[in-house]
Amino acid sequence: MICNDQGTLNEMIEAAKNYTQFGKVADYIPALQLANNDTLSVAVYGGGKSCMKAGNIEETFTLQSISKVITLALVLMDHGEEYVFSRVGMEPTGDPFNSIIKLETHTPSKPLNPMINAGALAVTSMISGRTARDKLDRLLQFVHDLTGRKTINFNENVAKSEFETADLNRSLCYFMKQHGVIHDNVEELLDLYTKQCAIEMNCEDLAKMGYIIANEGQDTETKQQIIPHDIARILKTFMITCGMYNASGEFAIRVGIPAKSGVSGGIMASIPHGVGIGIYGPALDDKGNSIAGMKLLESLSAHYDLSIF
Ligand code: GLN
Repeated sequence: MICNDQGTLNEMIEAAKNYTQFGKVADYIPALQLANNDTLSVAVYGGGKSCMKAGNIEETFTLQSISKVITLALVLMDHGEEYVFSRVGMEPTGDPFNSIIKLETHTPSKPLNPMINAGALAVTSMISGRTARDKLDRLLQFVHDLTGRKTINFNENVAKSEFETADLNRSLCYFMKQHGVIHDNVEELLDLYTKQCAIEMNCEDLAKMGYIIANEGQDTETKQQIIPHDIARILKTFMITCGMYNASGEFAIRVGIPAKSGVSGGIMASIPHGVGIGIYGPALDDKGNSIAGMKLLESLSAHYDLSIF
């Protein structure tokens, strides 16, 4: 069983760590360059107290694109499927996560899915709340409910560093505003988006969020339904079709587990009706996915036969 075989996990993380040398930490957000290229950590959470960990598990990191799954859940809970998907699509793009091209060539110019930056910015603009602070607080509260850890916050340095350099994301916003997809003040929207991306946690927290999504949105301990069943299903589907950016097809073949990555090097994986996995390995491949993290998931999937296909 994946949940009680610490020896296998230790061996797998040691083997996967060798791949960090072939990747590189993200540098387009200056604060992310400070990460340690060689590090790798993992937590496998199976509910209750059952959590197995390996690697530098005390390290914390920012969610970056993994937050897109969480904000999508929140806006679906706020507004329902019909409204949300009238403003953002459901199709993979095959393009890099920050590409603008499909916004221009696709009619109507609504973003193709919520896992690319354009779609995620549109999703963030739908978070309910009277003020920007209310919206951020609701999002943080939701993260606290998912992880059971009330001290989780965003990293101010990382948020500021991204806000000051996010001109590509600004362009996406202005393009969408011109086409009526969003109506927000762009600077305010970016402020919220960069704080959302800078929410900071450790692998165990990430594995717990992955576990709730894996288990139909339920905290199996308390039986609390944190995310409605149908929305948890939608999240896992997007994780499979778009979760690893334009490497999602290959990842589905090689690993076959719903997962979402972020440029900080995090990966959250959800085995339907099974464990949640949180990985941190900041050395990225050319598509922006944790290079050693993906190898580790590939080994886990092969060893425990975890592919859903
Ligand atoms: N905050 C990052 C950005 O918008 C998130 C991207 C990512 O993790 N792929 O560029």
